[in-house]
Amino acid sequence: TIGMIALDQDGHVAAATSTNGLTHKVPGRVGDSPVVGAGAYADSSAGAAAATGDGDVMMRFLPSYLAVELMRAGADPSAACKTAISRIKRHYSEFFGAIICANTTGHYGAACNKAPGLTQFKYMVSNSESDTPLLKSVDCF
Ligand code: ASP
Repeated sequence: TIGMIALDQDGHVAAATSTNGLTHKVPGRVGDSPVVGAGAYADSSAGAAAATGDGDVMMRFLPSYLAVELMRAGADPSAACKTAISRIKRHYSEFFGAIICANTTGHYGAACNKAPGLTQFKYMVSNSESDTPLLKSVDCF
């Protein structure tokens, strides 16, 4: 999945996902990516989030919606991302997944669940602080 969050100068946020789904595609499978609140969520009064990973598990927890609501309640984006992952981890300790979060002031973060094949999650940030997009990474927990 490619998940994106965009923030404009007036603090409006948008989030989107594009995915080829999972391997061994099941005909008719929807997955989390197009489901609002699961694959992505944005609210210009709080922030936005986008998720990737095992959508069949993740979509049951609406992690993007949860992360945005946590930012609305004052959590910084990294903490919001982490809590959204923790909520899933409680039930599926080995799920494969990550989430990116940004608030309306331009702060951002990400979190991922440590699983076989996923110990670090890399994401790109483009903002006015740099001429070129920055490659960021977060250690999974
Ligand atoms: N979340 C996507 C899905 O389950 C897959 C992915 O993120 O790569 O359809």
